[in-house]
Amino acid sequence: MRIFAGMKKVYLDNAATTAMRPEVIQEIVSVMQLEFGNPSSTHSFGRSAKNVLELSRKKIAACLGASAQEIIFTSGATEANNLILRAAVQDLGVRRIITSRVEHHAVLHTVEALARELGVSVQYLPLIDGGKPDFETLENWLGSDEKTLVSLMLVNNETGTVLDAARVSALCKQHHALFHTDAVQAVGKMPIDLKTLEVDFLSASAHKFHGPKGVGFAFIKKGPVLHPMIHGGEQEKGLRAGTESLHNIAGMALALELAYERLEQDRDKVSGLKAYLFELLDVHFPGYKANGSDTFYNIANVLLPIADDKAGLILFNLDMKGIAISRGSACQSGSAKPSHVLAEILDAQDLGKPSLRISFSHDNSREDIEALVAALRAL
Ligand code: PLP
Repeated sequence: MRIFAGMKKVYLDNAATTAMRPEVIQEIVSVMQLEFGNPSSTHSFGRSAKNVLELSRKKIAACLGASAQEIIFTSGATEANNLILRAAVQDLGVRRIITSRVEHHAVLHTVEALARELGVSVQYLPLIDGGKPDFETLENWLGSDEKTLVSLMLVNNETGTVLDAARVSALCKQHHALFHTDAVQAVGKMPIDLKTLEVDFLSASAHKFHGPKGVGFAFIKKGPVLHPMIHGGEQEKGLRAGTESLHNIAGMALALELAYERLEQDRDKVSGLKAYLFELLDVHFPGYKANGSDTFYNIANVLLPIADDKAGLILFNLDMKGIAISRGSACQSGSAKPSHVLAEILDAQDLGKPSLRISFSHDNSREDIEALVAALRAL
């Protein structure tokens, strides 16, 4: 619970974005004050800024078992996804992308653009068990000789369904396919060791792990020479031109270090909060359904047994009480469009009912969950 202008507010939309940790804000301010040099300048101001940049890269790489050269800073995961997918097609000869229809639009719309512009073929894996890609089909499809990239997200941002990335990686290796994972919802929230989990590409975004907005990174496994999507200077090995957002990059590095330092305690706390939500739903909303399967500890997507006449304005009514969550389906928040993720995993009847995405962080408390459930009961 947070107080804003005298009003108690509850933020349970941490899959959309997270609040920055106070230490991260301090770090950003300090870099803005002290390290305003351009990392590409050769004088002492520039050299000092370059130091901050490269130290941040090393810290991020160390958190993920990567090497520093494999981390390319971007404006966020949307850009990282675009860069990776486009470079795979343009530079690495990928002619086919296998993905799924529950990916984030940053992947889906990019592969659609690549199909239109560069004629790459796109195959969408069937989904089983509440939204998991069907590995049997993946294995069959990988049997063909076409140069292929598989792009599957590590944790789904709407349902929290977790990918068995080790299995996808093994299949890709066996069939000489490249593997990209959009790991936005997982980085900083689960251990990721890129020495043991073999992925060729990964994308991440700082604002999902209590870092600043407008900054993220692409992990690009050592080896291939790729060409830039944004042309200009020589920054980021020429792969991503433009003066680096140094304060944000330093903030992101600290945010990731803190996320991993505190992972266990935060995960225990957040898992407890999710369990508590389901305990309260069991009591007050029997008949609710959890969407997705084997979901991640910080995301709950629930379909509530709420009458149609009350369903339409749920988010609005919660917002009036200072409670922020996200829609999970068509019928709330005035949006005419159903969630493209739920549209893939729910039947038409359930898709018409209200589903809500509640996503937690270490900043939340049991009181927040109680406030949410009380507000839902009062609808
Ligand atoms: N991929 C996933 C799974 C996301 O949840 C998001 C954020 O909404 C993105 C990509 C886009 O990230 P960014 O906001 O850094 O562009």
